[in-house]
Amino acid sequence: TLSAAQDFDFFYFVQQWPGSYCDTKQGCCYPSTGKPASDFGIHGLWPNRNDGSYPSNCDSSNPFDASKISDLTSHMQSEWPTLSCPSNNGLTFWGHEWDKHGTCSESVLNQHDYFATTLSFKNELNLLQALSSAGIQPNGKKYSLSSIKTAIKQASGYTSWIECNNDSSGNSQLYQIYVCVDSSASRFIECPVFPKGSCGSSIEFPSF
Ligand code: 5GP
Ligand code: 5GP
Ligand code: 5GP
Repeated sequence: TLSAAQDFDFFYFVQQWPGSYCDTKQGCCYPSTGKPASDFGIHGLWPNRNDGSYPSNCDSSNPFDASKISDLTSHMQSEWPTLSCPSNNGLTFWGHEWDKHGTCSESVLNQHDYFATTLSFKNELNLLQALSSAGIQPNGKKYSLSSIKTAIKQASGYTSWIECNNDSSGNSQLYQIYVCVDSSASRFIECPVFPKGSCGSSIEFPSF
């Protein structure tokens, strides 16, 4: 059978800080399985192109099927918790990520392996430990953008991209951390291109 040509060049592997998702004006809801750990959680593994564009929703004939990841449920709940409202068990978030992003790399990773591989990248890159080794902790204090990026580079060897959002008082804070993965989803690489958006030079790292 013919398989679709791969329409992307690399992946962004994106993790979110739950404290920064929750303390915005909009707020959050804990998953029905309980409050997540005070740790970064997975947002997604997103196929991307070197020109900064990205494919999305690539195959409506292969929708998310929770039964394909039943063996991963407990790891998904701990490492890929949903914080959106209303409170739910996470399948909506995981299904959205598969349908929007995962279907665009299905020639490389089937549904089960898309989630299993993403979980294994989280296991390989302990961001909270990388930051805490440099004295950067989720204590509501402000840290420089450069100190955060340096800490992650020191611990992982790779250049990260920091995305910020604003807490309910308008302070810029550490929301998501991007690193890049090669197009076969086998290893971290230096990003061919970085996302856009500004943080300000001093960034809050809120508790969760
Ligand atoms: P936001 O508007 O919050 O930046 O992004 C909304 C959604 O667009 C993200 O959750 C993600 O699905 C997608 N998105 C945003 N930026 C990128 C990107 O650079 N690459 C890819 N692949 N998806 C992105
Ligand atoms: P994206 O399209 O940016 O990959 O994913 C964002 C979508 O997933 C939004 O529709 C958002 O409501 C939903 N979502 C569910 N749970 C979460 C969560 O914990 N964090 C984020 N950022 N989005 C979530
Ligand atoms: P440079 O490439 O000189 O480090 O940074 C160029 C611009 O991009 C500066 O305005 C810098 O603050 C911004 N920048 C560098 N790294 C990041 C990052 O990880 N996240 C965000 N949001 N901006 C960054």
